[in-house]
Amino acid sequence: MPSPVGHTLSVCIALPILGRGIWQKKASPSLLLASIFVANSPDIDFLAGFLVGAPNQFHHQLTHSFFFALITGILFAVLFSDKDKQQKNSTPQRTRLFLYFTFLATLHLVLDLFCTDTTAPFGLMLLWPLSNEYLISPIALFSDIRRASDTSSFIPSLFSLHNFLAVLQEVGILTGLCLMSWWGETRVRMYSSRP
Ligand SMILES: [Zn+2]
Repeated sequence: MPSPVGHTLSVCIALPILGRGIWQKKASPSLLLASIFVANSPDIDFLAGFLVGAPNQFHHQLTHSFFFALITGILFAVLFSDKDKQQKNSTPQRTRLFLYFTFLATLHLVLDLFCTDTTAPFGLMLLWPLSNEYLISPIALFSDIRRASDTSSFIPSLFSLHNFLAVLQEVGILTGLCLMSWWGETRVRMYSSRP
């Protein structure tokens, strides 16, 4: 898995692709916080692991599926479209919010797919509940984030030189992808506004 830094940077990739219209109308600290939360949301499976004393126990399982991304998208679209209930155009707005938040959560899964995984079972339960199979890309773009398996040393184990270098690599790759996303969106708008 990439680090929370990498997943947070994915907001910058999603914004020009599906979030521009939403941000123009609804830009707020709560939308920013929700976007960061959704981009990191599949990793809440660590919390369930902490509850049973083994943080990695449920990692890359149910919350790392398209189904979870879909549910997250629906939930946050409903949360952020409440104020628009009285407006005539609330349905397209809700659809845009749904697509934006679902895309953000899906982007998390895609980044995880392209990450080195050194612990079996390798990959994510991407197709749950249809299948419990773990899937992973044969090509790894991101280094793994090494972490201890017991609760007391889990957090301290994150602060290592290996993980620091992994985060630097993520920042480099994702900043490049972010710039490409903005450049692509600008080009599309330029061509679509031509007479
Ligand atoms: Zn993850």
